[in-house]
Amino acid sequence: MYSNIFDTHSHYDDDKFDKDRFSLLSGLKEKGVCAVVSCGCDIQSSKFNKLLSEKFDDFYFAAGFHPENLEGAALDDLGGIRELLADEKCVAVGEIGLDYHWMASTKQKQKDFFASQIEIAKELDMPVIVHDREAHGDTLDILKKTAPKGVVHCFSGSKEMAKEIIKLGMYIGLNGVATFKNARKSLEVVREIPLERLLLETDCPYLAPEPHRGERNDSSYIPFIAEKIGEVLGESTQTILDITCENAHRMYNI
Ligand SMILES: [Zn+2]
Repeated sequence: MYSNIFDTHSHYDDDKFDKDRFSLLSGLKEKGVCAVVSCGCDIQSSKFNKLLSEKFDDFYFAAGFHPENLEGAALDDLGGIRELLADEKCVAVGEIGLDYHWMASTKQKQKDFFASQIEIAKELDMPVIVHDREAHGDTLDILKKTAPKGVVHCFSGSKEMAKEIIKLGMYIGLNGVATFKNARKSLEVVREIPLERLLLETDCPYLAPEPHRGERNDSSYIPFIAEKIGEVLGESTQTILDITCENAHRMYNI
């Protein structure tokens, strides 16, 4: 059995976990999961994750406005996020960023929320969890201008962009996508960046790794991702889990 499985990005507030959330989370430890960070997408989901963090020792949360959840939100609402960030189990501002695929609000509004939340993170000396979907240019631009610490999760950019992210001192998060048949790009990135800057994540309930693709995902599936990355680097699955776990502790400061 594997140990040191650190899921740096999950959504355990999602209603796909409504039926068995408590038994699932209670059972993660005996499957080798040492810690989980569950990300908020707005105030309500961030609060839900805070409540879960009160019930489970190794469960942490992040609070923030996701770019797909900005409809009806105003910058003043970030006051509610600030309150949650003061909680001792809140380890990051997230998830935040840009999503030009769904375009749930204008680019300008997304950029305003992204930059404002980065400023809050810097003020509180916390890492950010960045979502970048089909918005690589603007994401990199804002990260370069604001220089936060944190991670670009579910990384889908080129190896050149990965190198820029590393240069900024940030981490790269990879998930089940790295095990898919068309994962050439993710695995190229793995070869280009130092292993000390890599984090593993599920983004569950979505993006279950092979051989569970299409099923509901959870933190116990992380070794399938570590195995794939280990194959590429010539390291054992457990070595990848150990190093990425240490990286996650360093980044989240826990
Ligand atoms: Zn997410």
